[in-house]
Amino acid sequence: MDPMQSMRQLVDELNKYNYHYYTMDQPLVSDKEYDALYDQLTALEAETGVVLPDSPTQRVGGELLKGFVPHRHLTPLWSLDKAQNEDHLTSWNNRVLKLVADYNSKNPDTPLPDPTYAIELKFDGLTLNLTYTDGKLVQAATRGNGVVGEGILAQVKTIKSVPLTIPFQEGTIEVQGEGIMNLSVLEAYNQKAAEPLKNARNAAAGALRNLNPKVTAERKLNAFFYNVGYAENLSFTSHQEMMDFLRENRFKVNPFISYCDDFSQVMAELGRIQEQRSSLDYLIDGAVIKITDMRTREVLGYTDKFPRWAVAFKFEAEETTTVLQSVTWNVGRTGKITPLARVEPVELAGVTVQNCTLNNVGDIERKNLKFALGTRVFIRRSNDVIPEILGKVTEENDGDEILYPDKCPACGFPLEQRGAHLFCNNRFGCRPQIIGRISHFASRDAMDIETFSDKTAGQLYDELSVREPAELYSLSFESLVKLERFGEKKAKNLLDAIEVSKSRDLASFLFALGIPNTGKSTTKMLADELGSLEAVMNATVEELTALPDVGGIVAESIVAFFADPFNRAGIQKMIELGVQAKAPEKQEAARSDSFFSGKTVVLTGTLHKLTRDEASARLETLGAKVTGSVSKKTDLVIAGEKAGSKLAKAQQLGIDVIEDEDELIRLLEL
Ligand code: NAD
Repeated sequence: MDPMQSMRQLVDELNKYNYHYYTMDQPLVSDKEYDALYDQLTALEAETGVVLPDSPTQRVGGELLKGFVPHRHLTPLWSLDKAQNEDHLTSWNNRVLKLVADYNSKNPDTPLPDPTYAIELKFDGLTLNLTYTDGKLVQAATRGNGVVGEGILAQVKTIKSVPLTIPFQEGTIEVQGEGIMNLSVLEAYNQKAAEPLKNARNAAAGALRNLNPKVTAERKLNAFFYNVGYAENLSFTSHQEMMDFLRENRFKVNPFISYCDDFSQVMAELGRIQEQRSSLDYLIDGAVIKITDMRTREVLGYTDKFPRWAVAFKFEAEETTTVLQSVTWNVGRTGKITPLARVEPVELAGVTVQNCTLNNVGDIERKNLKFALGTRVFIRRSNDVIPEILGKVTEENDGDEILYPDKCPACGFPLEQRGAHLFCNNRFGCRPQIIGRISHFASRDAMDIETFSDKTAGQLYDELSVREPAELYSLSFESLVKLERFGEKKAKNLLDAIEVSKSRDLASFLFALGIPNTGKSTTKMLADELGSLEAVMNATVEELTALPDVGGIVAESIVAFFADPFNRAGIQKMIELGVQAKAPEKQEAARSDSFFSGKTVVLTGTLHKLTRDEASARLETLGAKVTGSVSKKTDLVIAGEKAGSKLAKAQQLGIDVIEDEDELIRLLEL
């Protein structure tokens, strides 16, 4: 196609996407896809030297929504130039250095200092511009088209962290920042919402641009501030000074801000932010690098669209769209049936994605995906977990129906829907359930039978008719050695590993049993508090709910599990075959003189230098009480990487938090 025609098409397409993104807060494509088209357009504009008058490269934002009172910003609001990699960033810096050098050669008496850099997170929310007159918040506006925004004062007032009055009372100032929705808040909202929100950015933008401030308030938004755009009676010499002003005037300034005197340090700093990205409780799509000296900013100035003194370094996208091709149904060890989606292969965050989770049938309904087969869906991949389908791109039911199975895909047993999930109740005759139970029993956090895998469980099921974990303890060398791919060595190793597992402690054994709703920390607590298998098996709901962190559902699950004659018989058999399941002898008395003595501590997120179990054991030795959930009784939260809602709750309750792992190691006296 001739370049002019391609350009026309790209401009039209991007303008359509801009409308859905900026005006409707309902994007049709992911940022990743939008950015790729935008880059094609800028390349074509550079190649041809032609820029169409309605090109999105010349404009900030989109159209204003009707119903809001327009607000003319006292100084314009800008977009940001982008760098996708180190080369782009270096080119940006070279342009800065050249402009500074040009200026200095023309003004030798008043030279600009060598550039130094501030690095901030690039929050992915909605730009906010707050106007204060004589210390009072009088207006709040969206960025709009950069010159005029939508007045959303009532909506912004619902954000608790936005100050309604500030100590600075000399005339009018405008302060800019980003309205965001914390990820933990989005998760909590989506758990209850009839219609879950697809993404925190659109959730924040949609709430702030809703005519009804009650809707905004329900979303419990937050905000970070990073700029004073206009001030009648105030000026700053540096970014640091401006940030101090914001902090002194009680604006929420993000703690992740760093300064580099030398450009060579910037990339390392960006790497550090990228590592922390997944542990943040809000979306960022990159970092912003800004020249700190204000006089240099003035000299560098602005293009039509962005300041020359700042650049956004974009991180790898975590969201994209693709086509939902099919759904298959898998049976787990508890009989729960989980849908797994196959999607058209797509690159996302460095891997090719083909499978995504859909959680359960309830989720399919709530996300409006029932008629989504063959249509485009948004998917998100954060951390290294299997990506999730967030929702359909269009609202219409324009795809084929996802049919729910009424019979178990593995054994043909009729399924039952309980809550949001489908279940196969054929506990004793459904192969994947039995194999799942045996594999779980042997897994690392349970009886830790070395060399045992799902495949082993399958082979034992198929070839030796093993149907429950207890039967592992009566396997013979003669039968194992005959199995395919098993030699004498492998058979002996497996038997040795099974023998060793007999001495695993009570906590591991209870976890291995796979009691519904009962995770590792609960089984450990049960072992510690009740001290023997017999005591756990005979505990009543009342006794159990009196224990730390045990609610009604967990207590009922435990009691029902041990009331089941099949489970009791299996346990009895294992004990007869030599499984000990003993609680360790009470350890030496916990220390009373350490930093942690007497404190109630919650561990959350991933630690790198020791496991959570090791940290927990050490904390107990040092006299701490380790519990699973954050409440007013918690004294301290240790937040590793990817800490989510527990960290957010600790911050809300003003509980002390240790986030630095080296500091933790020091305090643990390791
Ligand atoms: P931008 O990415 O160019 O960045 C400018 C904005 O960054 C500012 O308005 C500000 O709100 C924000 N920001 C966050 N943290 C900041 C900080 N510390 N300092 C300064 N600013 C900070 O924003 P833009 O011009 O609105 O949008 C362009 C981007 O939006 C595109 O690259 C694309 O990813 C996305 N977009 C997507 C679609 C879509 O359909 N998916 C459509 C249009 C735009």
